[in-house]
Amino acid sequence: MPKGKVYLVGAGPGDPKLITVRGLEALKRSDAVVFDRLAGPQLLGQIPDSAERIYVGKRPDRHTMKQEDINQLLVDLALQGKTVCRLKGGDPTVFGRVGEEAELLKKNGISYEIIPGITSAIAVPAYAGIPVTHRDLASSFSVITGHESPDKLDRSIQWDKVTNATGTLVFLMGVAKIGYISEQLIKHGRPPSTPVALVRWGTRAEQETLTGTLEDIEEKVKAADFQPPAVIVVGNVVRQREELRWIEDKPLFGRRILVTRARSQASELSSRIDELGGEPYEFPVIETRMPERPDVIAAIRAALADAETYDWVLLTSVNGVEYFFRWLELCGIDIRRWHRAEFAAVGPATAAALKARGVIASPLPEKFRAEGLLDSLADRLKPGQRVLLPRGDLAREWLPEELRKLGLEAVEIDVYENALAAPKDRILLEMLEAGDIHAITFTSSSTVTNLLEALRRMGVDRPEETLRGIDIACIGPVTAKTAEEKGLRVAATAKTSTLEGLVQTLIELNAHRKK
Ligand code: SAH
Repeated sequence: MPKGKVYLVGAGPGDPKLITVRGLEALKRSDAVVFDRLAGPQLLGQIPDSAERIYVGKRPDRHTMKQEDINQLLVDLALQGKTVCRLKGGDPTVFGRVGEEAELLKKNGISYEIIPGITSAIAVPAYAGIPVTHRDLASSFSVITGHESPDKLDRSIQWDKVTNATGTLVFLMGVAKIGYISEQLIKHGRPPSTPVALVRWGTRAEQETLTGTLEDIEEKVKAADFQPPAVIVVGNVVRQREELRWIEDKPLFGRRILVTRARSQASELSSRIDELGGEPYEFPVIETRMPERPDVIAAIRAALADAETYDWVLLTSVNGVEYFFRWLELCGIDIRRWHRAEFAAVGPATAAALKARGVIASPLPEKFRAEGLLDSLADRLKPGQRVLLPRGDLAREWLPEELRKLGLEAVEIDVYENALAAPKDRILLEMLEAGDIHAITFTSSSTVTNLLEALRRMGVDRPEETLRGIDIACIGPVTAKTAEEKGLRVAATAKTSTLEGLVQTLIELNAHRKK
């Protein structure tokens, strides 16, 4: 069997977008991924479903895997012919023991690549508004391990040299030794008033910063019970934070928010959350797909073949638009055959999807719930007119019924089906149980029912209980009602039923929480 290959990849400090392009490519093409806890959870979502995931970090129930065993594991996987990605927090060469791993690979004739990452030593201070160098304040920086016991620290660190270096000192793995570190720095000549910052879980939703001076930082760490992992920055650059802090002032900072909508639609919401300083976590519980039942397909074909007979085409969702056009393409029906029909769209996103295909929907309804649509068209809907409703199989019956009451002929076609997507995501489960998901967004009733079902399939008996305490935000009243009926407590419902309305709701919830 040909030997596989090992990519030793830096995952960056936690924000999933801080991996390199090359690193992400390696991750996506791997057959096995070996990772520990500093690799951000979202990145793990990029691992192909077919790939083996091997966690070698700390677990409450067992010891961390020894470095020698990890080295051997990489060799064994590669000898099985696998493409292996060894994903490490930050940069693999900065206290990442990549040397030992590469050495054993080399000994076994296995080829490898070292793909650098953004080290927490620089990125974590930057996310707290602290640049490690500054034209006037520091012309160098040192990255130092704080991991060892004091006597070992003394052997590996020449305190006098370190202390008298002009620049910024960055300690990794040093939280437990903060007292000893400050003591030594003062003893060797740094002024006790030198500013110090500790930044824990930098670049992630949990990011927290504590500042002080060499003199009082130990006390402050104890008083706040400040826990690792954290980067310690010592030097005058820390003062820059007051002026330069940035991400902490964004309206969704500190919030990890679950996005449940279909993968194809999730990105818009995720990027808004990201832009606003929050951390989106995508867990798509819906998949849309072409219908398979012969009677449904026959109905679609028949309806589309009658293009010229319709007065209206009413579209109620972006998916409806997409699949309507897919069917036109599949059946070879020219859009110009719909010249008699007027197109109407529920909501601006649906209208925009139509516009992108060269169809201007008119007029735009005032309200965005299906119920608002008819009011805005009321004077133009005439008895006897034919209305086509291309929609998903779960669409509510309200619209066609109302149209029929007005004396119109409503023809519904299920141009797509909603299916449950139930990815198994153990990391999500762990985060839910640990309270590390702070809010959940529901953009339709089926996202509610499907999330509960997906959790049940992952072995959660009472998913409503697991979701207690998490802020639940719904796009509109119908979705909120479904959530309440399923035993969830809705924290807020969007005032306008749009993605932007939902985002505003998230912002308000966060502002409220901070008060
Ligand atoms: N190779 C890594 C460092 C590994 S040593 C890198 O280049 O970043 C592990 C230490 O890194 C932790 O104890 C902590 O000091 C620091 N660290 C890594 N990620 C961090 C994060 N997101 N926030 C704060 N500290 C972090």
